[in-house]
Amino acid sequence: MAVIYDRVALIGLGLIAGSMGLAMKRAGVTGEITGYARTEKTRETAARLGLVDRICDNAAEAAEGADLVVLCVPVGAMGAVAEEIGPVLKPGATVSDVGSVKQAVIDAMAPHLPEGVHFVPTHPMAGTEHSGPEAGFAELFDNRWCLVVPEEGTDPAAVDRLEDFWHALGANCERMDVEHHDLVCAVVSHIPHMIAYTMVGVADDFRRVSEQEVIKFSAAGFRDFTRIAASDPTMWRDVFLNNKTATLEILGRFTEELFALQRAIRTGDGDHLFDYFTHTRDIRRGIIEAGQDTDAPDFGRGPKR
Ligand code: NAP
Repeated sequence: MAVIYDRVALIGLGLIAGSMGLAMKRAGVTGEITGYARTEKTRETAARLGLVDRICDNAAEAAEGADLVVLCVPVGAMGAVAEEIGPVLKPGATVSDVGSVKQAVIDAMAPHLPEGVHFVPTHPMAGTEHSGPEAGFAELFDNRWCLVVPEEGTDPAAVDRLEDFWHALGANCERMDVEHHDLVCAVVSHIPHMIAYTMVGVADDFRRVSEQEVIKFSAAGFRDFTRIAASDPTMWRDVFLNNKTATLEILGRFTEELFALQRAIRTGDGDHLFDYFTHTRDIRRGIIEAGQDTDAPDFGRGPKR
């Protein structure tokens, strides 16, 4: 495949950046990849794993001269990193981020980016509950969606080029406006995480069911909540603090539905429960048909896992 960007800089070297580095190497669509992470431990691990070609001592050094700079740090850290790299960015370079929230990140980054630099925010809808450089793998983005959220007036050629890059990493791209992005992600990702965190917290509080029983019988549904609730606390704290409007809106809707189901249980309204669960089952079928999950029993874990 032809080279899309001669030099790419990844700021932050965790799950997403590590996977991007490995996927870029697999695709062969970039020249040199530089990288920077906050702690020496992460920088050393990233070097050992060969996630990028050259580890730098600070974000500005990594970004200087790069044709594409991607910020892969927690949402709450994006603004400070943009401020640090702003002065060294090459004219004509593209700056992007992979933050799970878009409006707050755009507000935090845009003021620090100089004229002549193309800012194209993205959000790869792919991840696991693991974090850090060791968690990265080249296939993470294969057949997953990358949402591309350019501001109005962004150079179309810069947006097309970034989409070509994400396609080369294995992803499909879809453009979205920023408000819609934050709402969609509240529904499909942010609130499900909040519910998982809550459910695991509830089980932990519920003394009549012993901890041993919770762990032993967790395959009855709880286990999948625990997987999601093991996600990185920094990342998720930042997501909720920075997507307030949409997450509070969806949480409000969720609470209303929950009250309706609670009422159906109390009043013995089996039809309501049956219809509701039939509808949700259809949604699950749609996800499998779209190739976004496996139909295998127990989520494809197999008997030994
Ligand atoms: P991660 O594995 O925890 O990695 C975060 C990286 O950011 C680490 O290298 C960390 O460095 C660095 N970092 C943390 N705070 C920093 C700061 N204040 N200044 C500079 N660097 C800092 O996280 P991730 O899962 O890759 O997530 C990165 C971004 O992608 C987040 O914005 C997240 O919202 C978004 N995202 C995540 C997922 C997901 O499922 N995980 C999916 C899509 C998008 P140290 O290790 O040295 O502290």
